[in-house]
Amino acid sequence: MNSEVRSLYIASQWRATSEVDTIVSPWDGTSVGHLYRGAVQEMEDAIAAAYAAREPFRALTDAVRGGALDKIHAGLVARAEEIAVTIAREAGKPIRDARGEVGRAVHTFQIAAEEARRFGQGEQIPLDRIESSQGRIGITRRFPSGVVGAITPFNFPLNLVAHKVAPALAVGAPVVLKPAHQTPLTALLLAEVIAEAGLPVGAFNVIHTEPALGERLALDPRVAVLSFTGSARIGWELKAKANRKRVTLELGGNAATIVHEDADLEMVVPKCVASAFAYAGQVCISTQRLLVHRPIFDAFTQRFVALSRDLRLGDPLDETADLGPVITEAGGVRILECVREALDGGARLLLGDIAPADPRRIAPIILTDTNTEMKAEREEIFGPVVTLTPYDDFEEALDRANDSDYGLQTGVFTNDIHRIYRAFDRLEVGGVIANDTPSYRVDHMPYGGVKGSGFGREGVRYAMEEMSELRLLALNLS
Ligand code: NAD
Repeated sequence: MNSEVRSLYIASQWRATSEVDTIVSPWDGTSVGHLYRGAVQEMEDAIAAAYAAREPFRALTDAVRGGALDKIHAGLVARAEEIAVTIAREAGKPIRDARGEVGRAVHTFQIAAEEARRFGQGEQIPLDRIESSQGRIGITRRFPSGVVGAITPFNFPLNLVAHKVAPALAVGAPVVLKPAHQTPLTALLLAEVIAEAGLPVGAFNVIHTEPALGERLALDPRVAVLSFTGSARIGWELKAKANRKRVTLELGGNAATIVHEDADLEMVVPKCVASAFAYAGQVCISTQRLLVHRPIFDAFTQRFVALSRDLRLGDPLDETADLGPVITEAGGVRILECVREALDGGARLLLGDIAPADPRRIAPIILTDTNTEMKAEREEIFGPVVTLTPYDDFEEALDRANDSDYGLQTGVFTNDIHRIYRAFDRLEVGGVIANDTPSYRVDHMPYGGVKGSGFGREGVRYAMEEMSELRLLALNLS
């Protein structure tokens, strides 16, 4: 890659600083690019610029904001391959998946452009239901809450940024974005696209900093909304510091998929393999725990292991790679330690090498005979590791799926509508995915978690609600 040092984007200007970071590929350690690192002053300037942009941005009509989002959408389409290659290199994501992510982000901005045009629609509420309120009517409208502080994780460096930026721009809320420290180059490409969209000065700011400086976005009273996606530990810590802010947390999980005996294994097994191992399991809604009805457990296991064995671990830029590296060596070491702990406790290894030469390059690992006390089931592994557990009774499977500190999404494969509805009724999650895996997500659906997995919802329209306030006008016409 070239030796250009990329600038931060603050107050609609490209900003250099005195510190330069090099982003390296998790696959082979080569340089992906260089960028300036911001410090306290740049964070202050970004927050001040966003704060000053509140009124000019709010004053734009819905149609103008919708038009700006159309331009961002078109800009992403025009630069799709360049962005996909950057994601593949800095996040270590196989190029086919990286292209898929860009396609989803394009859709996210397209939805936001449509929703922006509907944002000003409100409700009329008859207030004359009681005698003393005759001649009065109410009108409601939503207004942007103020500056949105957005902190995003490494694993979807474009689309999870889009899930904060697009709804914020749709409601007219200025943004200060602190992208993941491992994958900021993609966010700067998005900033180049947004810089051409004609937004008011300071409406969008990106600052790459050391991770802990992100805390300013929780502490600063000029930031009205903290929208965080990342690990549970950091998310809940930031919420505790956010005082009176609105907070949205999209955190981790150890999602379960339940496969009942009436499910069609031809369809189910490839979906489960992809859900467990795509992007080396570094997806918050990867399947980590597979619960399989005992009558089909052996048949399922045989096919699942065989298909997983065929997956190709390789260079993310290789078109044939099914999975790439995990993001850091420390991450790989942690994942392998969880596997070893399970094996020491009596679990069995059905597939995988638990001592790879490079701990970042972990091929699919399948465990069975695990229990709910082991980290492999209890904690978020965030790696290419899955546990396989048989169950006898559907209620037992629901209990086991619920036996978790997390609750993002659960997949349930069965053709019985009663069972599907029972699962919907009982599963403690943000989404029950019937006849697919928990990895299913489209970008306009409400998405988020319960328990340790988070707080609030994303999915463009739902995030717009988190970033805006309802205001009532009570009219006295008597
Ligand atoms: P992380 O928590 O390490 O980092 C997330 C962001 O927080 C990054 O921008 C990082 O630089 C920043 N950060 C780190 N320390 C900070 C601090 N002290 N103060 C403020 N900011 C700080 O998470 P990660 O490793 O980038 O991402 C993986 C995690 O994200 C997993 O737990 C995964 O499940 C979760 N995730 C959740 C969703 C979801 O939608 N629920 C989506 C993707 C990832």
